Amino acid sequence: MMENIKELKALLAYPKDIVITTHRNPDGDAIGSSLGVYHFLNKLGHAVRIVSPSEYPDVFGWMKDIEKIIIYDTEPEEAQAVIQRADMIFCLDFNALDRIDKVGELIEKARGVKVMVDHHLYPEPFPEFMLSDTTASSTCELVFDLITGLGWKEHMDHLIGECLFTGILTDTGSFKYSTSAKLFRIVAELIEFGVDDYRLQDRIFNSMKEKHLRLLGHCLNNRMEILEEYQTGIITLTKEDYVDFDIQRGDTEGIVNFLLKVKKVKVAAFITEQPTIVKISLRSKGDFSVQEIARQHFKGGGHKNASGGYSFQSLSATVRRFKGVLPQYKDQLMASEQ
Ligand code: 5GP
Ligand code: MN
Repeated sequence: MMENIKELKALLAYPKDIVITTHRNPDGDAIGSSLGVYHFLNKLGHAVRIVSPSEYPDVFGWMKDIEKIIIYDTEPEEAQAVIQRADMIFCLDFNALDRIDKVGELIEKARGVKVMVDHHLYPEPFPEFMLSDTTASSTCELVFDLITGLGWKEHMDHLIGECLFTGILTDTGSFKYSTSAKLFRIVAELIEFGVDDYRLQDRIFNSMKEKHLRLLGHCLNNRMEILEEYQTGIITLTKEDYVDFDIQRGDTEGIVNFLLKVKKVKVAAFITEQPTIVKISLRSKGDFSVQEIARQHFKGGGHKNASGGYSFQSLSATVRRFKGVLPQYKDQLMASEQ
C-alpha cells in the first residue's frame, strides 16, 4: 500500500478540482479505473474531469458518464485548461508520462499534486503519491485497494463496482490471467455491492458487429503464420486490410489472444500497419516474458505476458525484425513452463 496514504486522505478530505487521466487508446482497465475513481471522488464532493489522450472504444459506450471524458485529440484546449487548473491529477493504468504524449507534457508542467495507480513494470517516480504493484491483475484491483486503504469502503456502490469489475474482467481476459485469491475476494465483494457479472460479460464480450467476426476470420485464415520452431504465432494486418474491413480503433482488440489457443504456441505477435507507425502487440503463456522483447527491440514495454511497442520501419521489415530476434530467445522459450 501507498506509504503516505494518510497524507493523501488528508488532501482528499476537502473539495478539490481533480483531473483523472489514463493512457492512449484506453482499454477496459483504463476506462474502468478512470470512471471508478471519477464516481468515487464525485461522491466525496470533488469536482472531477477525466482526460483521455485518445478516443475510447465503443464497446464501453454504456458506461455512465463516459461521454463526459475529454478526448485530448479532439478537444486539446479544454484538456489543457482542466489540467492546468487541477489541484490534483490522478494518473491511472500508466506509469510514465511519455506514454501519453502531449497530455504527459501538460501534466509535467501542471501544478496539481500527482497520484499514480498502476500495475505496469518500471514505474517512473514522478508522482507525489504512488500505488504501483506489478503483481496486481489490473489498475481496477488497485483502485479497490486504494479505496479500502483510505478507509472509505463505505462509499463503494454498485456503480463504482461495475467500473472496477469492467477493468478486472478485461485485463484478466475473464479471469484467465493474473488472478489471485485476493482478486477473487475483491470480485466477491464487488458482486455483493450489486455488480451483475453475467450482464457485464454479455455487454463487453458479446458486442461484436458482423464486420468484427469477418475481420477475425480474415486474420486467422489469411494473415496468420505459425513458426513451430519458435512456438510463436504471428498475425499481421496491412493498411489495405484497415480499409477493406473498415477497421476502427478498438476493432482489433483481442485478436492476438487467438494465437495462444494453439497448444504449442507460447508467444503471440499481432503486427499492424498504422498511419505513421507499425504497432506490435505481444502475448505469452506461462513463464516466458515478452516484456523484454517489446522493450529492447520495439521501444515498448508492458507486462510479462502482455506487452507492446512500435516501429518506424515498414510492416514487412518489422515482421522480419521480430522473426530475427526470436533465435536469441529460443533456449529461454524451450525451457519455459507453459
Ligand atoms: P496491447 O497489446 O493491448 O496494445 O498492449 C498490451 C500491454 O503492452 C499494455 O497494457 C501496455 O502495458 C503495453 N504496451 C503496449 N504498447 C506499448 C508501448 O508502445 N509502449 C509501452 N511502454 N508499453 C506498451
Ligand atoms: Mn491495466
